Amino acid sequence: MTPGIVPPFLLDRLATTDDPRLARAAAAARKTLTVPRPARPVRTRLRLSIDEGALVAETVPAPDRVISDAANTERLPGRRVRTEDDGPTGDRSVDEAYDGLGATFDFFWDAFARDGIDGAGGSLLATVHFGDDYDNAFWNGERMVFGDGDGDVFTGFTRSLSVIAHELGHGVTEAAGGLEYQGQSGALNESLSDVFGALAEQHALGQTADEATWLIGAGIFAETVQGTALRSMSAPGTAYDDDVLGKDPQPGHMRDYVETSDDNGGVHINSGIPNRAFFLVASRLGGHAWERAGSIWYRTLTSGSVSPTADFAAFAAATLATATAEYGGTSEEVDAVRAAWAGVGVAKDARA
Ligand SMILES: [Zn+2]
Repeated sequence: MTPGIVPPFLLDRLATTDDPRLARAAAAARKTLTVPRPARPVRTRLRLSIDEGALVAETVPAPDRVISDAANTERLPGRRVRTEDDGPTGDRSVDEAYDGLGATFDFFWDAFARDGIDGAGGSLLATVHFGDDYDNAFWNGERMVFGDGDGDVFTGFTRSLSVIAHELGHGVTEAAGGLEYQGQSGALNESLSDVFGALAEQHALGQTADEATWLIGAGIFAETVQGTALRSMSAPGTAYDDDVLGKDPQPGHMRDYVETSDDNGGVHINSGIPNRAFFLVASRLGGHAWERAGSIWYRTLTSGSVSPTADFAAFAAATLATATAEYGGTSEEVDAVRAAWAGVGVAKDARA
């Protein structure tokens, strides 16, 4: 199962609601759960270099966006409706996806000098209007795919830049060597996407760490839902508390770690722990979170030192090693990283 922004346990709750006002949303959730996600294409090195086609991307870094419309079917990629240099189409989802991909590209370039998902200027592909009332967004290994939502619980998934950047973030993690989508390595994979999602939004808004909401998916719930977003990085477990959806199950500390076989071993649940660790580093260092905290996380991910099966402790140790190499062992950055992992109970093994 490819990563979706909406965790399966939320859709399960929605699918089984007997609230008559949410009949459409419940039906949508049931359908969303049963739609098989298209298989992940194998990306080979040879294909990558063909994709690059525009070698100019290396000298003139600019996004190469291609937005397609699945016209509420489950066929990918759908009809091509907007490419680079095309003006707005007037279709809100198409234009939001286009703008969101652009903002995410700008973030990765400005913050980390990364040219697109693969770092080599490959196209940014997205499909909107996927499925009928489809209640999710996902990365399928090649493109970002967005449903329209059922309208009663979930509104369109392109409304949130943090969701768009989260999906693109999965592509970056995969290109960097990947983190197995299971258990703690899967929760790290989810968390890194949330980090990129939050940072892309902060970058677009010019926000500092203390100005940011640290919410993922703000604005994708309909007004009737008791909740502000899908997840909170600053206060995991507080994003929503709703009759239908239940309460946000994310822990923010290892003592509350959730052992479960659902959700690939709780990848959308326990990601709250590394999410909060990142928030603690960013808020302690202050300023633009992508400049130091984000850079430490990004460099750790792309350093080649993180095993695809890394657990929280291994990732914590790797971030400490990155901060030490970058800023020196007695720097405030190293202090912040060490304190953050200690603050979420992953301290013991966090030694460089
Ligand atoms: Zn995800």
